[in-house]
Amino acid sequence: MKFYSLNNPDLQASFKEAVIAGIAPDKGLYFPDSITPLPADFFKNIEQLSNHEIAFKAIHQFVNEDIPNAVLKEIIANTLDFDFPVVPMEENVATLELFHGPTMAFKDVGARFMANCLGYFSQGEKQDVTVLVATSGDTGGAVANGFLGVEGVKVVILYPSGKVSDIQEKQLTTLGQNIEAMEVDGTFDDCQRMVKSAFLDKEITDHKKLTSANSINVARWLPQLFYFLFAYKQAKSNGKEIVFSVPSGNFGNICAGMVAQKLGMPVKHFVASTNVNDVVPKFMENGIYEPVPSKATISNAMDVGDPSNFIRIQHLYQGNLETLRENLSSYSFSDEETREAMKKIHAQSGYVMDPHGAVGYLGLKEYQKDYPDTYGIFLETAHPVKFLDVVEHTLGLSPEIPPQIQKVMGREKKSHLIKTYEDLKAFLLATA
Ligand SMILES: *Cc1c(COP(=O)(O)O)cnc(C)c1O
Repeated sequence: MKFYSLNNPDLQASFKEAVIAGIAPDKGLYFPDSITPLPADFFKNIEQLSNHEIAFKAIHQFVNEDIPNAVLKEIIANTLDFDFPVVPMEENVATLELFHGPTMAFKDVGARFMANCLGYFSQGEKQDVTVLVATSGDTGGAVANGFLGVEGVKVVILYPSGKVSDIQEKQLTTLGQNIEAMEVDGTFDDCQRMVKSAFLDKEITDHKKLTSANSINVARWLPQLFYFLFAYKQAKSNGKEIVFSVPSGNFGNICAGMVAQKLGMPVKHFVASTNVNDVVPKFMENGIYEPVPSKATISNAMDVGDPSNFIRIQHLYQGNLETLRENLSSYSFSDEETREAMKKIHAQSGYVMDPHGAVGYLGLKEYQKDYPDTYGIFLETAHPVKFLDVVEHTLGLSPEIPPQIQKVMGREKKSHLIKTYEDLKAFLLATA
């Protein structure tokens, strides 16, 4: 199996090459040239498999011969050492909690898997790989944690000064070792622009092997398909058709779910739930894809105006909107609706949803208006404590701070304050 660039199918790469490069030389996203369904037995007997066995069988064809089986098993064991419970919420509604990892964001799995793969590929290489990543909050912490101490890999994280939460800032500025935090006097868009400029800057790329740790990287994108298989394993016995509602920003997570479906997992339908950044809901309605600048919301990890992975979803459906509509619905919700949902669920059951999970819940309920007899699972992508201000303000309560978060809160912040791209460039060249 090979990966090819979505801009040009003749531009091919192995898994290893795709992971190291991040993006194809023509700036296209890499896509697997085949997705071979798993044997029917796999789904029939999935309850008897451990999460590690499920993950290995599901990811093996994509990794191919590039990582020996024993090493791949070790990588999976390092990546998946926490739980992914499906928690019943209402009749025919449950949530898949993806926040039990080290930084309490669902990005932990992709970040750890990619870090381990890159660490393996860097063994015996003379030159370090530098992972350059811009974050609006959650990605930075997950990447910092996943890559900490990985030999042969340096990580440089750009974040907008004063625009991430205290917890998020601590998670990405206090680890030290091979992790550097660049605090940018600007917005998230400025951070992203600087990262893009660095990738195109020959003075830097002649000296340094740069790669990205966003979900465009196949090693961060594909392992997200594990979640859907773990949920299926837990929900299968109730016998109803399953619907997944995924709170979506860059659409990497939901697209990985669709790959799980291509592997043969029975799913009735996907719902892409967004905040008011509604490029995809609009596209599903009128067939016109129109990127716009992102708007700030309380579910800020989904404030994306031009979702990078949506092109992969369109490719899965050969650009056919009608067949895509049969399998995907997409709805957008305001901050007010999101807060109302958080309040309703809390009053009903005492469960505290984070704003992203709440958007997922709303999308599921919208779909189930027409299909009430389905079993709906919405993904909870972050622990409520990661969005403490919103939760406190909406529900009037303070969730208890879990130990893995408490641990970083007491540590000392270390960051490099920068203003312009030239500042970043000087830093990268000085550390060549
Ligand atoms: C990144 C993120 C999302 C969006 O995931 P995509 O794969 O970009 O669609 C949703 N919720 C949280 C909490 C996130 O951190």
